[in-house]
Amino acid sequence: MIAVVGSLNLDLVAPVPHHPVPGETVLGGDMAQHPGGKGANQAVAAARAGGEVAFVGRVGDDDAAAVMLEAARGQGVETTHIRRTPGTPTGRALIAVSPAGENTIIVSPGANARLTAEDCDAAGDLLRSAAVTILQQEVPDEANHAAARLAGGTVLYNPAPAVEGAQPPPHVDLLVPNRTELAALTGAPTVPETLEEVTAAAGALTGAGAVVVTLGGEGVLLLEGTASLHIPAFPVRPVDTTAAGDSFCGALAVALAEGRTLADAARWACAAAAISTTRAGAQPSLAGRDEVEALLAG
Ligand code: ADP
Repeated sequence: MIAVVGSLNLDLVAPVPHHPVPGETVLGGDMAQHPGGKGANQAVAAARAGGEVAFVGRVGDDDAAAVMLEAARGQGVETTHIRRTPGTPTGRALIAVSPAGENTIIVSPGANARLTAEDCDAAGDLLRSAAVTILQQEVPDEANHAAARLAGGTVLYNPAPAVEGAQPPPHVDLLVPNRTELAALTGAPTVPETLEEVTAAAGALTGAGAVVVTLGGEGVLLLEGTASLHIPAFPVRPVDTTAAGDSFCGALAVALAEGRTLADAARWACAAAAISTTRAGAQPSLAGRDEVEALLAG
């Protein structure tokens, strides 16, 4: 079993001719809504990749809650530990997209911000028995710390979105940042660019057993103790890299839960993430297990 502790957001997406400046009203195009949030995306990524997945999180008591719960269940994600929060809106992301494809995003965490350590305690049996527990930074630290403490299996911590000065909980086995998140973790003023810079920055992180830095179209850098390994990305034609990191984390958890080595699991997850970049959107783009196996078989 894979446990995902994290956020569920309803993404509201509107095309705009240009992004508004303060005080300006812009008339946009038709709004679309999609299930999103890093936690929900990673749970769906893991389920599509063939994992058995259960979620720990909070939704509000509005219509969006039903949309999010249905979307998760529709993908086979177990939702018993997703609590409804009276008098609180479900998390939402308001996304404006310009003709150049540039996004501005306002996240209103709503119920996600109400996830507590007690919620994780209530899911203690799940967390103790899960082979892998995945955490991100869209719910309060106290929930992540409680989940990491309770987890009986591998704790995979994705420090996303980047939060300056964020401290991953103790008991993390595997940190999975991208370059920007790595810089936020180390407090470096600039984002590490070259493999040497990334290796040095990841090497400076202490506490986690291993670090996997995702490098977009350059793949991943894996650091275990003093050993480092660069795994190149699969050559694909990307059309939309939204949720590539979520796809990677979900698939990595599945591969680790199946007992693969970290290097094998990271390569498997690179295949899943590469597939997700070839399709538009977040959850609709996530790879199915057969597709991952097919890409790996060449
Ligand atoms: P995030 O979405 O968190 O910023 P990345 O952009 O680093 O994460 O992407 C996560 C993973 O997705 C990468 O490690 C890589 O395996 C895969 N990926 C991302 N962009 C591409 C690409 N252009 N081609 C192939 N794989 C990609």
